[in-house]
Amino acid sequence: AEAELIRAQRFESLAMLASGLSHDLRNLLQPLLLAGESLQDYQDDPRLARLGALVRDCGRRGLQMVQSMLSFARGARRAERVRLGALLDALELLLQGSVPRAVNMAIQAENPELAFEGNHTELQQCLLNLCLNALQAMPQGGRLEVSSGQIDLGADFFLPEEPCRPGRYLRLTVADNGTGMDEATLQRLFEPFFTTKETGTGLGLLSCKRIVANHGGVMRVESEQGKGTRFHLYLPLELPAETPEEAEAEEGLYGDA
Ligand code: ADP
Repeated sequence: AEAELIRAQRFESLAMLASGLSHDLRNLLQPLLLAGESLQDYQDDPRLARLGALVRDCGRRGLQMVQSMLSFARGARRAERVRLGALLDALELLLQGSVPRAVNMAIQAENPELAFEGNHTELQQCLLNLCLNALQAMPQGGRLEVSSGQIDLGADFFLPEEPCRPGRYLRLTVADNGTGMDEATLQRLFEPFFTTKETGTGLGLLSCKRIVANHGGVMRVESEQGKGTRFHLYLPLELPAETPEEAEAEEGLYGDA
């Protein structure tokens, strides 16, 4: 339990560092991007226009990295009613521009009306990360599949460090038939800043894991080199009952406001 606490504290410091750094970087990058954009339209000097386009592209890439750092760092979430159909529709819409013609995309909600407690934006970000990874693993094209189902999970499903209760879970699966991963990559996948990509941030999966953990759920991965990869998200459908201590703590916080 002590090792777990140390790990959690380390994680929190990293999140705080990432959050501070991202805000500062964003403030630097946004004007840079704007400057690049206006230079790029400079008619009188093609060389300047080319430099402008370069500045713009670097600014854009930087902002994307900052965005993934921010979504990783964002801890507190707002709980709402998430409808599965709406979540997957939004995902499909977001992906439409990024899916190459050689990729066959299938997004299917088994039960679109299924609703659960969670945060729509965060889950959308999480699924988007997984889908973009899947697309990047299929440079030659292939099949991207997002599917869902409900499953009862027993206590033996969870690892000792996962504070999850047995019960009914929603399983969301993002599957690709791309490169797959070797053993070394599978081992390090969720480490901060671990990436095998030239312009990767190595924060995408960590951010997913954090979002899923914030929902009281867990992630699993199956992958085979040359065959493809499946990421599963398990989200609890029954909210764990509040412990008396938690209820009391909350009363203390808000009771006499
Ligand atoms: P990034 O995408 O920026 O590299 P991630 O944390 O999202 O960061 O992913 C870490 C690494 O995990 C990737 O660099 C890649 O090697 C591997 N990976 C993630 N998803 C897949 C996938 N669907 N297929 C193959 N490899 C993957």
